Amino acid sequence: MHRVLACEQCGAELTASGVRTVRCPYCASPSVVERPAAAERTDPRFVVAFTGDASGARGSLDRWLGSRHWFADPKLRRAREARAGERVIEDLRGIYVPAYLYSAVAHADYSASIAEHYHEKEERTKPDGTTETRTITRTEYRLLSGRHVSYVTDVVVSASRGLSHRELAAIEPYDFRALRRYDAALVSGWLAEEFARSFDECQTASRREALDEVGARLRRFMPGDGFSDLDWHAQISWESLDPVFVPVWMFAVRYRDDRPPLRVAINGQTGRIAGKVPLSWPRVVAALIVLAAIALAVWWGLR
Ligand SMILES: [Zn+2]
Repeated sequence: MHRVLACEQCGAELTASGVRTVRCPYCASPSVVERPAAAERTDPRFVVAFTGDASGARGSLDRWLGSRHWFADPKLRRAREARAGERVIEDLRGIYVPAYLYSAVAHADYSASIAEHYHEKEERTKPDGTTETRTITRTEYRLLSGRHVSYVTDVVVSASRGLSHRELAAIEPYDFRALRRYDAALVSGWLAEEFARSFDECQTASRREALDEVGARLRRFMPGDGFSDLDWHAQISWESLDPVFVPVWMFAVRYRDDRPPLRVAINGQTGRIAGKVPLSWPRVVAALIVLAAIALAVWWGLR
């Protein structure tokens, strides 16, 4: 029977074919229990495979954390220093994260007021009797309306419980030219999360994101020297939504009981990294004071 590892802390459900884990890779919680999978489950249609192995991801993680080390919360610094040199396998895990890949064709009817600048020469007689010519910029407005067709591709919406849409967006883009048809053998040996958000929910979110993109394209498309009163409404004439697995390296550590875990996500295809390091505020303030002092010294020197 198909079984999943369920995290009692964050709710993520992972299948682990041939992989063992005692901590949740998303939230570092030790309360991971094994339970039978739900009868109805979504299988991905496509997969973006991991490129490279854990050592590459570990290298970029070490550099990323290292460059933030001095500013980090002291407890985190101590935890890192104590573990320098020691490689903890459990804390950096590769996960196939469930997501939906969306493409659409949208027809947008728009109208806007387009500003056009033009110059006029004006002659003026000065009080002393001489004349001077100056150039004045004037603006003319004209109404523009029409229909704009957009083909929006590669919109990705997280269907994961462990990795929010915002966190996934921070390590995008993925190169979907490397998309492969899903095959259980492709993900064997990796953790893979079950789809936690419904098709409908992800479709609504994808459409919203695609329409935001249409709006952004319309604003870029507007001619002239400026525009105002852009009004548009779009209709989607074609769309596709496919469940996919995207590769993510997750680094999650609990370094303090009273704080949420430190979480860093790394794009398993491109190596793009994102996360938030809990800061040591006294050190941040100290650095700002030093910077202000340098700026003041430079300014003083230039006077
Ligand atoms: Zn968890």
